Amino acid sequence: MRKNIVAGNWKMNKSLQEGLALATELNEALAGASLNCKVVIGTPFIHLASVVAAIDTRKIGVAAQNCANKESGAYTGEVSASMVKSTGAGYVILGHSERREYYGETSAILNDKVALALANGLTPIYCCGEALDIRNADKQNAYVQRQLEETVFNLSADDFNKIVIAYEPIWAIGTGVTASTEQAQEMLAFIRSLIAAKYGQEIAENTSILYGGSCNAKNAPELFAQPDIDGGLIGGASLKVADFKAIIDAF
Ligand code: PEP
Repeated sequence: MRKNIVAGNWKMNKSLQEGLALATELNEALAGASLNCKVVIGTPFIHLASVVAAIDTRKIGVAAQNCANKESGAYTGEVSASMVKSTGAGYVILGHSERREYYGETSAILNDKVALALANGLTPIYCCGEALDIRNADKQNAYVQRQLEETVFNLSADDFNKIVIAYEPIWAIGTGVTASTEQAQEMLAFIRSLIAAKYGQEIAENTSILYGGSCNAKNAPELFAQPDIDGGLIGGASLKVADFKAIIDAF
């Protein structure tokens, strides 16, 4: 059975002290609550170990927002998947459109990152999604299909079964414009159909597929009620506990 997941992506926000305060407040807000979804927070690298130590990781998973495409060695400034794992984090967000766009992450680079994440026991939250011009030309399905075929569809069935997919239309990220419920459901159903064609119905049914892009407390209940939307990847609204908790409570 696939899991419902609400994952926060803090991006490059919060000092260590502010991040710890946010994680601690979230931990307190969720203590004693019975949740209908897995909660994950994606923090900057420097926060990972401290946040893991400050929260109940049985309730809240911790994700890095990236990892290196190399195992170890002379790669100044990089952080490897094994280093992320050593902090106690269990997840890593990979292929976010901001990484693809601003840091030149190609499918080849992402294949190495996904492989290293899996080899080190991390769960990749693998992002895909089209820009506005592609959506306007009604070519979003072919675009997302190619993104998946060039990357995670190279995985064995066993490995694919370990990943989470997040569909994030770039035009909806941080813009306040959310994909309509119909657009989101339609794309996630399409992605699930691609997974079924590639890996079979059982794996398709087991794969958690998230929607991301200006998801908030107001639109989350309708989005999460859709048959193929298994949760959200949440940017801005994950930076305030009340907003994030309201999204979690949408399940
Ligand atoms: C994101 O960056 O993953 C995201 C979905 O951001 P926002 O919720 O702010 O649109």
